[in-house]
Amino acid sequence: MSQPTTSNPTDFIRDIIDDDLRTGKHEGRVATRFPPEPNGYIHIGHAKSVCLNFGIAAQYKGTCNLRLDDTDPLGESMEYVESIIRDVRWLGFDWGDRLFYASDYFEKLYQFAVELIKKGNAYVCSLSADEVREQRGTFTEPGKESPYRNRSVEENLDLFSRMRKGEFADGAHTLRAKIDMASPNIVLRDPVLYRIKREPHYRTAEKWVIYPMYDFAHCLSDALEGITHSICTLEFENNRPLYDWIVERLIPTHRPQQIEFARLSLSYTILSKRRLIELVEKGLVQGWDDPRMPTVTGMRRRGYTPEAIRKFCAEIGVAKNDNLIDVSLLEHCVREDLNENAPRVMCVLRPLKVVIDNYPENKVEQIESANHPQNSDMGTRQVPFSRVIYIERDDFMENPPKKYHRLGPGREVRLRNAYVIKFENMVKDEKTGEAIELHCTYDPATRNGPPADGRKIQGVIHWVSAEHCIPAQVRLYDRLFSVQDPGREGDDFTKYLNPNSLETLTTCYAEQRLKDAAPGSHYQFERLGYFCVDTKDTVAGKPVFNRIVPLRDSWAKIAGDY
Ligand code: ATP
Ligand code: MG
Repeated sequence: MSQPTTSNPTDFIRDIIDDDLRTGKHEGRVATRFPPEPNGYIHIGHAKSVCLNFGIAAQYKGTCNLRLDDTDPLGESMEYVESIIRDVRWLGFDWGDRLFYASDYFEKLYQFAVELIKKGNAYVCSLSADEVREQRGTFTEPGKESPYRNRSVEENLDLFSRMRKGEFADGAHTLRAKIDMASPNIVLRDPVLYRIKREPHYRTAEKWVIYPMYDFAHCLSDALEGITHSICTLEFENNRPLYDWIVERLIPTHRPQQIEFARLSLSYTILSKRRLIELVEKGLVQGWDDPRMPTVTGMRRRGYTPEAIRKFCAEIGVAKNDNLIDVSLLEHCVREDLNENAPRVMCVLRPLKVVIDNYPENKVEQIESANHPQNSDMGTRQVPFSRVIYIERDDFMENPPKKYHRLGPGREVRLRNAYVIKFENMVKDEKTGEAIELHCTYDPATRNGPPADGRKIQGVIHWVSAEHCIPAQVRLYDRLFSVQDPGREGDDFTKYLNPNSLETLTTCYAEQRLKDAAPGSHYQFERLGYFCVDTKDTVAGKPVFNRIVPLRDSWAKIAGDY
């Protein structure tokens, strides 16, 4: 697989790397990693980190490892591992043979912990989790030293090996680094490095009952893999001294540099795995790949392209300050990519039957239509035209306002790529009074140009031939949340779910050529937006379409265009 590169962006992380290369730090190597924990599907925030880490590796001809950071058995699974592998690959990145699992380092990490104990840098503490917390102190007050802090090396080694053997209950002991209970940085107040957790691990099964904490496992995994620049999000800034403290004592020959950047926050979107899991588990969405989800798998199913996501990540760049990115920027990138690459077709979402009374009963004309208005390489297709067609229900109004340029009593409109038709009369539903069938006449002279008498036709509408179209289901997706910041703290985010985030239309009619459209393929439905053939619910000959994004101002643009 090729490595997509962006045109050498610059940012503060790349500035640091440029400096390091100039000064010969890390022997001129650049090695990054993307380290997801397999406890959920990755989302657009992770995609930012993927693009950053793999993008830097590609730009500096370095390497980027994919590492499953699986040191906490709770909630981790192979399903998540497989999804992460699939999603990173789909985003367009390649880690060669550098797929790693932190759980493969469990034995090594244990030995490193033993080494720390031997050096007098770690001790087994028998305080409960609550007591540890109480004695940690605050920003203004130093912590209290644990009464177990001065256990002998022998006693520590004995207790630690018995922790491993499973002699103690969860929480009975922890292994703590012996640093400084009075440090102004709370992270350095004898942080816990190992805890007892009798929980089977999806890879190591029952082999371990003690598990290393993130702070211990992550830095050592980085150093073991020869990572040079360990890029993570801002909340780990205070953990950097601990990162350095551990590596300095255990693998002083490989000292990766931790660099923090601001995590992505998107308006109208939740980007927290815990909350995304809640949406899935409570059935508030239809799974991780629900097209409304901000997960990579959801966006793929919705019809977003990897190119558009990479473009978005390049646009937003990286910074040191948290800020909220407008989700419409992501939608803009998707629209731009699809505008260029999606073939045009016609589909009527809410059909209204139109009979063209002066068109011969059995006649069918093939109308040659461009698949893309600007790109002739995308070719043309034949669209059948006949006496009975469907148009969009809202392209007709019985009592239209003055500025309405579509069909109504006494009005004419152009059918896209075809003729100008004129309203004559209609059949109404007796009960509701709603128009259920229009009768029109067409002007045979208008197929390839404006009316001969010079009269102006303002509107252009899409249509399909009743005899030649196929039924289709179309799902109109909207934002999953109806407020800008659904994730604000202290609030139940589920109350901000947009009740109208999905509208399913079951009686749509599409051009016949879409009958066997490949699942996952993209189209522009003229005047309506971009749509993707659903990969899950489409069965042969019966496509289901997901709306990816609506068109902006589509109507004005195509009017006057034949
Ligand atoms: P969450 O907070 O949603 O549970 P996480 O950060 O715990 O996510 P990890 O699997 O640990 O999830 O993340 C893997 C990598 O992706 C980390 O390097 C993390 O910093 C990065 N990452 C996660 N969320 C974002 C985000 N919103 N923006 C940028 N990077 C992110
Ligand atoms: Mg994390």
